[in-house]
Amino acid sequence: MLSKKWTLIFHIFRITVYVFVILCIAFYAFLLYATSSITVNRENFLKGKNYSKETLLLFSDIAFPDDKIRKWNEDIKVEIANEDRKVKIPYADLRNKGSISGVDSIINILSPLIYPVKIYRVPQNGNLIVHLNVDSVPIPTKNAQGFCYIPPLIKTFSWNIKYAEVYNIWYSPVIFHEILHAIGLQHPSKEYPFYMAIDDEYTFGSLEEEEKFHTPLYLSEEEKTIIKMLYSPYIKSGLSKKEFLKQMKLQDNDK
Ligand SMILES: [Zn+2]
Repeated sequence: MLSKKWTLIFHIFRITVYVFVILCIAFYAFLLYATSSITVNRENFLKGKNYSKETLLLFSDIAFPDDKIRKWNEDIKVEIANEDRKVKIPYADLRNKGSISGVDSIINILSPLIYPVKIYRVPQNGNLIVHLNVDSVPIPTKNAQGFCYIPPLIKTFSWNIKYAEVYNIWYSPVIFHEILHAIGLQHPSKEYPFYMAIDDEYTFGSLEEEEKFHTPLYLSEEEKTIIKMLYSPYIKSGLSKKEFLKQMKLQDNDK
């Protein structure tokens, strides 16, 4: 009797799992279908702008992680997860090396660039969680100085970024870089002749250049333009890189 009952429970469980998996696949297929129709109106997007071909190609290179636009469409509420750690940082480093005022400065720098999306700091219930000066980042990558985590479930089922967590290890000035990932940028695929905070493999030409650009709050003009383009109302979440290049009459391998 008991074994029959358990067999029945097992069958019901198995069917429930099957139904759940099928529903997930169907939903994912629907999402793919829905995003395949997302496009960009070339005329509206370029109206009043003077984007060069190089700028459009740079945009296509660093603003399409997984070949699709991912951006916030709601307020970004920045919450510092471990405020108490600030007391351990010597005063001289407060402004620069992963400090609260450093995060506030980043918020001030990004604010006009991502308009109309708002970004501000909250004491709790944030959707962009900043872990300052942690001992190690939650990834196995050797020598990682920082990390940006966007939950895989959100990544799979939505092109809108709704939640992210960023980390920097002790004294590593990478919080700005990680926040740039959290707002939708990815590393460039090649080396450009100018420094960008999102580029983690840039080769400085001289010590002077390193001193000028390699500061934790430096954001190049090129990146400012790219972020403004990403948060243009004409650029929708889920827009594919292929479709963008097609509408801009460009090709991936254009120089
Ligand atoms: Zn990175």
